[in-house]
Amino acid sequence: MDPHVIELPRKIVVGKKVIRDVGKVCRELGISENALVLTGTNTERFARDMEKKLGMNYQENVVREASSSEAERIGKSAEGFDVVLCVGGGKVIDVGKLVSFRLSLPFVSVPTAPSHDGIASERVSIKNGDAKHSLACRPPIAIVADIGIMKKAPYRLIASGCADIISNRTAVNDWRLGKHKGEYFSEFAVDLSLHASEIVIRSANLIRKRKERGIRNLVEAIITSGISMSMAKSSRPASGAEHMFSHALDMMGSTALHGEQCGIGSIIMSYLQGDDWESIRDVLRSVGAPTTLREIGVSEETALEALLKARKIRKRYTILDHIRLDRRKAVEALRVTGVSGN
Ligand SMILES: [Zn+2]
Repeated sequence: MDPHVIELPRKIVVGKKVIRDVGKVCRELGISENALVLTGTNTERFARDMEKKLGMNYQENVVREASSSEAERIGKSAEGFDVVLCVGGGKVIDVGKLVSFRLSLPFVSVPTAPSHDGIASERVSIKNGDAKHSLACRPPIAIVADIGIMKKAPYRLIASGCADIISNRTAVNDWRLGKHKGEYFSEFAVDLSLHASEIVIRSANLIRKRKERGIRNLVEAIITSGISMSMAKSSRPASGAEHMFSHALDMMGSTALHGEQCGIGSIIMSYLQGDDWESIRDVLRSVGAPTTLREIGVSEETALEALLKARKIRKRYTILDHIRLDRRKAVEALRVTGVSGN
């Protein structure tokens, strides 16, 4: 067997007001000089809060879009830094991860919303021209998750984060299919991934009420899901056909959130996998995530096209190959599960 190398974050801090501890966390990791701070237009105020107690030189940059060219623009003017600190949502963290990877710098993830598992993983989902790509970079050296900030994130982002993790179940089912085709498989990464989704399912009520315990459980589940991908050195434990469906929708111009699309994709894939799709639909409902196309502003025709396109998004054996999904089966899946709303 080939050596399997695993890279993981070295420090994970979850708690209230911990955004003020980012400087301290960096010093504990031997980083104390110059920081490149990346943030977004809606998250600048959180970056300010962090900077007050940073105790390092820093330069702040606002990320405008999650694209490869944006990462290039920021990377070009970035010289003499020891670390990239990303304070924001998925877009900021994706761009920061790519910038730090290209500059061979460590990056610290300071998420402001628990909207998907990219905040803790080594994966980047980024636009290059019109297409969206999923790239392998490196996991954050540290994650500082301030529960006080994340608790106040728009609820839609929180529900979307739940849906992204709930969809791990269908991703794992697909990975098992890949295993039978001789693909690398890790039972340990699977356990972590499913454990993350179980935590979200068990905490649905607390999350819906924005209780601190619920948000903390969601954040820890998101981090665990990210770690499962680092363990596997692949997004396999948390990304199957439901994610390919989401990527296909992105390419077709959908503006719904990543987790929202993956959640709906997960209902469909669970049905196609012959699994308990009703329980996935019910738990999505209980966290307040969308379960129909109408809720995410996608037509049945677009969803059908995305389902048929999903297989070709990447070379990854899933239920879509296993059953050779055709238009008739796709229509049936949308209708039986109620996703199409008919
Ligand atoms: Zn995802």
